[in-house]
Amino acid sequence: MGIQRFGTIDAMLSEFDLIARYFTRAPRAGGPLLLGVGDDCALITPAAGEVLAISTDMLIEGRHFFAGTDPQALGHKALAVNLSDLAAMGARPLGFTLALALPAPDEAWLAPFSQGLLALADAHQIELAGGDTTRGPLNLCITVFGSVPAQQALRRDSAAAGDDVWVSGTLGDARLALEALQHSLDLAPELLDVAQARLDRPEPRVALGLALRGIASAAIDVSDGLLGDLGHILERSAVGAVINADALPFGSVLSHQPLERRHEFALNGGDDYELCFTAPVQQRQAVLNAAQQAGVAVTRIGRLTHEQGLQVMDGTGLLLPLRSRSFDHFADS
Ligand code: ADP
Ligand code: MG
Repeated sequence: MGIQRFGTIDAMLSEFDLIARYFTRAPRAGGPLLLGVGDDCALITPAAGEVLAISTDMLIEGRHFFAGTDPQALGHKALAVNLSDLAAMGARPLGFTLALALPAPDEAWLAPFSQGLLALADAHQIELAGGDTTRGPLNLCITVFGSVPAQQALRRDSAAAGDDVWVSGTLGDARLALEALQHSLDLAPELLDVAQARLDRPEPRVALGLALRGIASAAIDVSDGLLGDLGHILERSAVGAVINADALPFGSVLSHQPLERRHEFALNGGDDYELCFTAPVQQRQAVLNAAQQAGVAVTRIGRLTHEQGLQVMDGTGLLLPLRSRSFDHFADS
């Protein structure tokens, strides 16, 4: 866009200086990014014979993160939640763009933010391909581009009755940290540190998504809570599910909390960014092999049913009181 300057005359960091200093790197040799930041468009080479997988996620201060959140963690998380969507599609990341609104060109914020962002990009060998920068209330919007063979994309609408329901990693520690930070429960500082790492620095399960191509029948990433997110698969695939509450993999901190809280946070907590996926029963060993290859634990937590609806049973066969409240930004406004 046209000339726009941030800050005062003395401490002037122009929009273009800012982009050059914090968001411009040479495309890595041999990678899919042919032309990156600095031209009218980025040029990305899609993998031959594959389709593009594209996803956008926005993070707004005061809505998705607290004012004053560690900018390095924020850089990590802004990209992580987007890569998590590629993981849930079984797509290989190619690159991403960043649309950034910030109140002032504060270098004490920009430096750690870009460091957190680009470190995760490096870990996945992708580049920031372009974006847009403007003054405004702090708002981060990332679009990721990935690539997947069309027939192997892990869609939400292709699960079948009888399939197993699986989840990666552990659930609920992010929600536990959130509640502790909001002072709605007490957590010892050393436990809060562990739980908060799950909230602030989610690890997108990209390797697992890739390994599950051709094995899983459907997948979604757990951003809003397991029951709500699984509910999207059930709805799109026109099936139901029975979940075994005793099989749920609780977060390491959550596992020492009272049972009712364990269930509530594992089933309805958000921000876990694990993969919930389904697979035919005869793929059990293939799923375990894929998980081992990806270096992530997976747990079988239930079964899809012809009968629609979502039930949660414990070992005694009791139906837990179900409160599936997937997060809805407009529910309370
Ligand atoms: P245009 O006017 O063509 O939209 P801009 O002046 O907005 O271009 O941006 C100049 C270049 O810098 C473009 O290549 C754009 O993709 C890139 N860019 C702008 N903001 C960012 C950002 N926050 N991160 C990465 N690249 C950016
Ligand atoms: Mg622009």
